[in-house]
Amino acid sequence: MSTVAAYVVRSRTAPVTLGTVERREPGPKDVVIAIAWSGICHTDIHMSRADWGEPPYPLTVGHEIVGTVSEVGPEVTRHRVGDRVGVGCMVNSCRECVTCVAGFEQYCQRGPVNTYNSVDRDGSVTQGGYSSHIVVDEHFVLRVPDTIPLPQVAPLLCAGITTYSPLRRWGAGPGKKVAVVGVGGLGHMGVKIGHALGAEVTAISQGTSKRDDALKFGAVEFRATSDPTTFDDLENTFDLVVNTVSAQIDMSQYLRLLSLDGTFVNVGAPPGAIPIPLFTLMAGRRSFASSSVGGIAETQEMLDYCAEHGITPEVEIVQPSEINEAWERLLKGDVRYRFVIDMSSLAP
Ligand code: NAP
Ligand code: ZN
Ligand code: ZN
Repeated sequence: MSTVAAYVVRSRTAPVTLGTVERREPGPKDVVIAIAWSGICHTDIHMSRADWGEPPYPLTVGHEIVGTVSEVGPEVTRHRVGDRVGVGCMVNSCRECVTCVAGFEQYCQRGPVNTYNSVDRDGSVTQGGYSSHIVVDEHFVLRVPDTIPLPQVAPLLCAGITTYSPLRRWGAGPGKKVAVVGVGGLGHMGVKIGHALGAEVTAISQGTSKRDDALKFGAVEFRATSDPTTFDDLENTFDLVVNTVSAQIDMSQYLRLLSLDGTFVNVGAPPGAIPIPLFTLMAGRRSFASSSVGGIAETQEMLDYCAEHGITPEVEIVQPSEINEAWERLLKGDVRYRFVIDMSSLAP
């Protein structure tokens, strides 16, 4: 075990403060990563503030992690000391069940081990990337393309893959009309990736302030839900709607945006249950679906795809001393479009 510097939350109302976490001694297949950048996902706040139930405290969040390999176990073959690497939302899974074997570790039938607040196979509780170092089995460590600056790689590891995966799964591409709801960390990546895949993307946001950006990201249309005509104008339009909103929304409005056989894929994770109006689904043989991050092979594919197509997130760099302020700004929608923490000050 080694004790490393980390930013820690000690209760649902406590601020993030500097502390430590324990990292295991690297095993034969483990990679030790000196963390350089850590993205701020809305999930970090949901989890720390107990939106989905009380997590065990103290808790260190962060699952958009990039850095450099500082040590490898003797059986590691995929990464070498000095490599630029990334870690996203998972650090382990059973690797044996049918979904793991198929490459969908995020849907491991025995439960994936998330990067933070999960019980790992050795019984320890995982702690995330707002930290100086992390120890991860090589299978869950991604290769980072040289052409994307490191701070911009971080948001790809959750926001990027969480939108790439459903866009690919539900066939976003030429001739398909796709709506991305919520132009935040996930949503702005959804617009960029959907456009790159060749789909006709409409960005749907609460107000009009993100219009110019969304069109720059590749949306062909931008609509605000504050405009009372939006839902009527867009009714029966989309093959696919990807919802990234972190709060509850009125499904009776959004489901009618789907055309015949269209699919609404929910990736936003607000607290509480949302009623699904079944008659609105039946009215157009519409489907309601969901999606969770992406498997390791697919995450690597997404990183390589983004490198090849020049797709990078819009980031605002913050220092660790600004994490609490960044969280408050994120909750107010005051971020364009992903905060990334410069973790270099924690390096020994
Ligand atoms: P974010 O940057 O805060 O973006 C969420 C966006 O939702 C906001 O930018 C805003 O977009 C919109 N929004 C917020 N409050 C709203 C409200 N009351 N009504 C309507 N729209 C609202 O958050 P994020 O990091 O992208 O994460 C989004 C959600 O996805 C979170 O719940 C997170 O936990 C979840 N998530 C899920 C997965 C998964 O695997 N399924 C992975 C990562 C994250 P506009 O300003 O454009 O309206
Ligand atoms: Zn996330
Ligand atoms: Zn499994």
